[in-house]
Amino acid sequence: MNYYSLNKNAPAVSFKDAVIKGLAPDKGLYFPESITPLPKAFFDNIDNLSHSEIAYEAIRQFVSSDIPEDILKSIIEETLSFDFPIVELSENISTLELFHGPTMAFKDVGARFMARCLGYFNQNNTNEVTVLVATSGDTGAAVAHGFLRVKGVKVIILYPSGKVSDIQEKQLTTLGQNISALEIDGTFDDCQTMVKTAFSDESLISKMQLTSANSINVARWLPQLFYFMFAYKKLHRKHKDIVFSVPSGNFGNLCAGMMAQQLGLPIKHFIASNNENNVVTEYLKTRLYNPKPTVHTISNAMDVGNPSNFIRIQEIYKNEFETLKDNVSSFSFSDAETKAAMLEMYSNYNYVADPHGAVGYLGCKAYLEKNPNEYCVFLETAHPTKFLDVVEDVVKIKQTLPHQIQSVMGKEKVATTISTYEDFKSYLLE
Ligand SMILES: *Cc1c(COP(=O)(O)O)cnc(C)c1O
Repeated sequence: MNYYSLNKNAPAVSFKDAVIKGLAPDKGLYFPESITPLPKAFFDNIDNLSHSEIAYEAIRQFVSSDIPEDILKSIIEETLSFDFPIVELSENISTLELFHGPTMAFKDVGARFMARCLGYFNQNNTNEVTVLVATSGDTGAAVAHGFLRVKGVKVIILYPSGKVSDIQEKQLTTLGQNISALEIDGTFDDCQTMVKTAFSDESLISKMQLTSANSINVARWLPQLFYFMFAYKKLHRKHKDIVFSVPSGNFGNLCAGMMAQQLGLPIKHFIASNNENNVVTEYLKTRLYNPKPTVHTISNAMDVGNPSNFIRIQEIYKNEFETLKDNVSSFSFSDAETKAAMLEMYSNYNYVADPHGAVGYLGCKAYLEKNPNEYCVFLETAHPTKFLDVVEDVVKIKQTLPHQIQSVMGKEKVATTISTYEDFKSYLLE
């Protein structure tokens, strides 16, 4: 099974090449040439399958023969070595907690899977691969931890100075080994521009093998479809008509859920829950897709003005607006509404949610108002203590730091300060 470029101006490639390249040479995102639904027996029998067995069956067609069966199985086993609990909040709302991995955000699964695939592809290669990643916080941490000690791969993280939380900065800058952090004197957009410039800088790419670990990479994007299957396994005996509310930024996670649905998973409907960065909410209302400058919010991992995976969603629905609209509802919420939702969940259900999860919860409530007989699961994408200031300010209760976070707080930050692209380039060539 091959992958084609959504810009339709580059040759189709294998899974291996799509992972190594990240983006096609025509700058298009890669998309699988075919999606074969899983047999009905798989879903009927899902109660008897482990997370790793479910994941293997779901992903194997996308990896095809590029990774042998036994190795793919152990990659999956290592990737999924933590839990994905469902917490029921009310009669028709529950949350799927995706933050029990090493960096406590949902990006751990994609980053760990991609790191192990790339490590496998690169094992006999003398050419080191350099992964460049621009981050506003969570991506960098997940990628850094995922790639730690993977042979033949070097990771360089660019983060905006003073614009990530203390906890996030510690997670990015204290690992050492094959992970380096660059503290950029600028914004997240400046970091992203430097990375993009590097990818098209001939004098760099002729000398080194660069790749990206953002959700444009198929190995980071596709494993996220597992979550929806895990939730279905836990809930389908008790609840029919399951709807998923996905707090969205670059729309990789939601788009992965749609891939699970394409594989035959019975999902009734999706809710794209947005903060005030609402280009998709507006699109579903008006049919006009108008990327906008980013608005800063308390759910900052979703502060994206031009979501990169939306083009994959369009592809899944063959650019048919009405089909997309029948399958997805979208709502956008302000910071004030988000904080009120956090307080409501704490007062009513004794549940402390982070701001991203709270946007997902609001999406469920908005949808259920008109569809009271359905059952909504919102994805809780980060542990609340990753956004400690906002969370403690709202719930007024001191939070205990989980061990994953406690263990980095005492370590020393190591980062190189960079101001210009020229500095960045000389750093890479050193
Ligand atoms: C990245 C992230 C999101 C947004 O996910 P997308 O796949 O980019 O839509 C939501 N919540 C948290 C905590 C994140 O880190």
